[in-house]
Amino acid sequence: MSNLFPSFAPETAGEERSASLTLESFPARKAEVGALTVRRILPVRERRMIGPWCFFDRFGPMSFASGKPMDVAPHPHIGLQTVSWLLSGEVMHNDSTGGEGLLHPGELNLMTAGAGIAHAEETPPAQSGKLDGVQLWVALHDAYRHSEPSFTHYSDIPVAELSGGHVTVIMGELANLRSPAKTLSPLVASQVVIYKGAELELPLDPAFEHAFVILDGDASFEKQPLPPDTLHYLGIDRDELSFSSREGARVLLLGGPPFGETLLMWWNFVARTAQEIEDAREDWAQHRRFGDVKAYRGLRLEAPPLRLRLKP
Ligand code: MN
Repeated sequence: MSNLFPSFAPETAGEERSASLTLESFPARKAEVGALTVRRILPVRERRMIGPWCFFDRFGPMSFASGKPMDVAPHPHIGLQTVSWLLSGEVMHNDSTGGEGLLHPGELNLMTAGAGIAHAEETPPAQSGKLDGVQLWVALHDAYRHSEPSFTHYSDIPVAELSGGHVTVIMGELANLRSPAKTLSPLVASQVVIYKGAELELPLDPAFEHAFVILDGDASFEKQPLPPDTLHYLGIDRDELSFSSREGARVLLLGGPPFGETLLMWWNFVARTAQEIEDAREDWAQHRRFGDVKAYRGLRLEAPPLRLRLKP
């Protein structure tokens, strides 16, 4: 996906303190990604990161008879991983390393931008007429953020059957199950399904801060019904949680240790300094560093104007 924050100025992230054993709820806001309207769940002003997770867009569910509801032309990234996960439909990924991955529900497209990559994401010509999914970004720690870019499509993401539901471990480890996806710091992302009329308990790593979003259905956390399309932040120090549902629900759970580094985010770049952002913007404008997405038919995205508004 390609981001445009409400402001053209870079925004910092990673400065908030992690709360302990809290429940703080922040509704998503609408944003446009090309012709696609998304709900932006992260960052919110009050809570810009959950562990290393610094961005969370939800799109769909939608039905369409023709065309390409997702058509995000080539654009660059630095300093992050993109995690693409579908509930229904298809998305084709192509990037400047030659990486490609046709994504279906239950599979993972994971792109590590490192020092720089460009990619495009499109509804493929052969499609089911449905689209529903999320894209998440993982901020890379300083030691990894200048690494070689790469892309991997994972078709075999593990699922654990539990009492009251099941969990799909998209990234990291949960319920004694480990995802094969390449991670560069401790974290977890999991799709949790709670069955109709059931209660499900999950062990958590208390060193992580956690948050969850109800993707569909009705879900209660510790018996408290909560709204969908809302970031529910749980803080650190929690070693288990319970969900229940009357009619069945899907929840996305995220976690990781407090990130500990302050980020500067602008457009599709996760950096540390304004100079790095200016350099990345200029390199994209001058067709340096990122390479071309040769598989994409059409024009690439140009960077928006950059307005530096830095603290003295
Ligand atoms: Mn993108």
